[in-house]
Amino acid sequence: MAKLIEPSKKWGISRGFGNGHNGIDYKYPLNTPVTAAADGVVGFEGWGQNDPWTLSLGGIYVRIQHSDGSWTGYAHLSRTTVNKGQKVKAGQVVGYSGSTGQSTGPHLHFEVIPKVQNWQNGYAARINPASFFAVPPSTSQPKGGDMIDAKDKTQMRAVMRDVKGWNAANVDAGEHDASEAKAWAGKEWELYLAEAVKEGASFRKKRDAALAYYAKKATNDKALADAKAEIERLKKQTPAAPATDSDKKLATLKAALKDVLGI
Ligand SMILES: [Zn+2]
Repeated sequence: MAKLIEPSKKWGISRGFGNGHNGIDYKYPLNTPVTAAADGVVGFEGWGQNDPWTLSLGGIYVRIQHSDGSWTGYAHLSRTTVNKGQKVKAGQVVGYSGSTGQSTGPHLHFEVIPKVQNWQNGYAARINPASFFAVPPSTSQPKGGDMIDAKDKTQMRAVMRDVKGWNAANVDAGEHDASEAKAWAGKEWELYLAEAVKEGASFRKKRDAALAYYAKKATNDKALADAKAEIERLKKQTPAAPATDSDKKLATLKAALKDVLGI
């Protein structure tokens, strides 16, 4: 089994694997992006009653087959964003969380089906996903008192990924952000981060500089134009008073991103 990107830890787990439960439940609010745990091909998407693997229990369900023949399943969605047979990359959004099927409230039920299945295991051949989660690599810590710390860097990434619609799972796992940044804006993101570290400015100042920079870029490219609109919204939602500590900055950022994330 390939290493899996765990569905975002941001919301926490409401129910683990075991005691009759054949997956892990994450406390995703309604319509939170649900992402593929690894590269693969969509084997099923839609109402579970049309898929013998989940039946009506799973509600709206996505099942992805991975290169080693194993599967990951994503249940109780409000909708899917992929088609059967479509190739997906790890971290790609495949649908949005909901409460369809046998569910008492919005959450993500995530499950793993191995290539070699034991249908007598009491869990309909599912196995505990937890043992396949890749350990997120640690964030490199800039050295020197005047440099931004790892937390600021994480916050910067949070702003930029949300503006662009990057998903939390990608970035939490420390994967894809660099390559996605390159795809989006060439080397500019990396250069910006290097610059931000160098200048050692406050997080707010750096963030505003980044937003202004990308707003300026958003001229001929529709995606960037959309980003600009999001930036404008984001700015309006951000209180003008300067934050005094990391926790306050984070709280302000979360509030500012509330509408952007839709959560
Ligand atoms: Zn569940």
